[in-house]
Amino acid sequence: RVLETTDLHTNIMDFNYYTGKDDPTIGLARTASLIHAARKDAKNSVLVDNGDLLQGSPMGDYMANKGLQIGDIHPAYKAMNLLDYAVGNIGNHEFNFGLDFLEKAIEGAKFPYINSNVYCADENGCWKNIKKGENLFTPYVIKKTEILDNDGNKQEINIGYIGFVPPQILLWDKQKLSGKVTVDDIVKTAEKYVPKMKAEGADIIIAVPHSGIGSSANPGDPMAENATYALTSVKDINAIMFGHSHSIFPHADYKDLPNTDVEKGLLNGVPAVMPGRWGDNLGVIDFKLERKNGKWTVISAATHARPIYDGAAKQPLVDADLDIRQVVELEHQGTLKFVDEPIGAAEANMYSFLTLVQDDPTVQIVSDAQIANVKAKLPPELKGFPVLSAAAPFKAGGRHGTSSDADQYVQVDKGPLTFKNAADLYLYPNTMVAV
Ligand code: MN
Ligand code: MG
Repeated sequence: RVLETTDLHTNIMDFNYYTGKDDPTIGLARTASLIHAARKDAKNSVLVDNGDLLQGSPMGDYMANKGLQIGDIHPAYKAMNLLDYAVGNIGNHEFNFGLDFLEKAIEGAKFPYINSNVYCADENGCWKNIKKGENLFTPYVIKKTEILDNDGNKQEINIGYIGFVPPQILLWDKQKLSGKVTVDDIVKTAEKYVPKMKAEGADIIIAVPHSGIGSSANPGDPMAENATYALTSVKDINAIMFGHSHSIFPHADYKDLPNTDVEKGLLNGVPAVMPGRWGDNLGVIDFKLERKNGKWTVISAATHARPIYDGAAKQPLVDADLDIRQVVELEHQGTLKFVDEPIGAAEANMYSFLTLVQDDPTVQIVSDAQIANVKAKLPPELKGFPVLSAAAPFKAGGRHGTSSDADQYVQVDKGPLTFKNAADLYLYPNTMVAV
């Protein structure tokens, strides 16, 4: 049994910091209970994380704002270190706070990190004495794993894990990465490393791309952001534990994709799983393996995304793991304080419920803030120049099955404002750019 978490975005607690209430629909504290249950009813299991871990929630912002000193353990790892992960993969959002923050953060993980398609591009070298042209991370690992066979005897299997990130990190985090790293195509990189892994003795190979399904065209687009379907054409990949698009696979949404079995969870014949986001699902792939003449063969596979919450019945399917909640209690309290810091006051309510059909104040205030900020920074020769601003409605109803959930919209009531309201109005810690 191979288990996967993805796109946790530092949603460790089952808590909504914007509303200040418990939220049973998100959080590793809940997924952890699914992990324990999934391990209990399988003889052999391993767990991977796909990435997009360090950014994307108030706790992530609180930690980035506070910064990490050498030896500090990020709360994401305080929690994950309790769950015996086999490997972690680097997501695109891992780069949002810069390489220095990333280096200090992943120091705290008690499991290896893998990524095969990011290379050092700095003339002066990168972290850990890595030279220009070399992989910035460990591209893959092969872990000798002890398992029990059907007769209860110990067996050994070499499980290979390889990680990938979208090449688009070079655009999305240009200021943080320009001149420091280069990124290669996901499929091309797999074709380079998978045969090496096989030659080094990997019995089965699990790809962990931080990349959505993408196009089923063969050959796929070079440098594709979403390359999971294209990865299925690379020989000797036995399973794909993917993510990035915050969707769920297997799911009926994908029934019209060519060569896709949304019952068994097969993409072009390869078992694959994408367990949503923020801990709302656990990815599960069950293999039946046979050892013949000293060689392991995959007999069959079954794939599931297991939810923590029943959206139709509005019922939690699992309780929170109290050890996970406990281990991040300090950072949870810190985040609560952080989001309650006063920053101003509003004379009217700001809601985004109608943002897709009419102008609304939740987008206007962001534009107004951007204009004010740029005007204040204009050089003397441009004083009085008109400034235009573009802003997007980020919270406009959610992406999958959450469009009727009021928490997926901005809701800022008139009165005193806190950082929590600012984060509600502007979900992502993006960088403003003026041209
Ligand atoms: Mn993500
Ligand atoms: Mg992503």
